[in-house]
Amino acid sequence: MIVEVLLSWWLLFFGLIAAAELLEARHRPIARQRWPANLTLIGLSSGLAAIIPLSSYASGQWAQDTGFGVLNWLGVTGVILFVISFMAISLWDYLVHLASHKIPFLWRFHKIHHSDTELDVTTTFRAHPIIYLILSGVNFGIVAILGLDPFAIVWHAAIVLLLDLSHHTTLRLPPRIDAMLAPYIMTPALHHIHHSDHVAETDTNYGHDLAIWDRLFKTYLKDPKRPKNKFRYGLTQYSEKRSTDLHALLKAPFGKNPYS
Ligand SMILES: [Zn+2]
Repeated sequence: MIVEVLLSWWLLFFGLIAAAELLEARHRPIARQRWPANLTLIGLSSGLAAIIPLSSYASGQWAQDTGFGVLNWLGVTGVILFVISFMAISLWDYLVHLASHKIPFLWRFHKIHHSDTELDVTTTFRAHPIIYLILSGVNFGIVAILGLDPFAIVWHAAIVLLLDLSHHTTLRLPPRIDAMLAPYIMTPALHHIHHSDHVAETDTNYGHDLAIWDRLFKTYLKDPKRPKNKFRYGLTQYSEKRSTDLHALLKAPFGKNPYS
């Protein structure tokens, strides 16, 4: 049931944003050559991606039923349990994303997402399928240990699904609204900086939903460091040809050098 709801939610917003992007881009060239690799990776990953919220929910439900986990041992219930659980899983997502850049084993997989040379809604789930299996196991453990509320997990997953789609789109919020939200919420403009090919810019704005974690841990970057005409997406070691070669992308995590 949860998977069906999240999948329908995701498909609906994917379709709406894709249609809006096509409409917005009708008078300029679109980087369509990326789509076969991106859409195939979405196809390979989407079922596995659903395992993350599902296993986290199952873990939270098990913790609640058995009284396991820190929050259950402390007797936290109701709205306070929901809010603490939501903030905890949001912070955990930030830390996992940071670790995906800093731990070579995780970067082997996460670099596939960053190798896209342009961003649009198809970049959202451009990821190596195996990373979702790894993250499902990790999330299962942390949710049980902390005893997080399963309903907060589902709400968080639904919100992050929507925000993740918005983060990669070519559509932008009106500058005034973006500036108003950016100190608190990860906006598309902030996330686009994270996809820069310049490491000093990539190593910022790791939050999935809230921008407060980046501000707290000093990884927040409001504007790109380089002038607009020098800004490029992707990874310097991935040419456009390599970043659209599906076979090379699927093999990339298993090479000798995690950074190649
Ligand atoms: Zn990243």
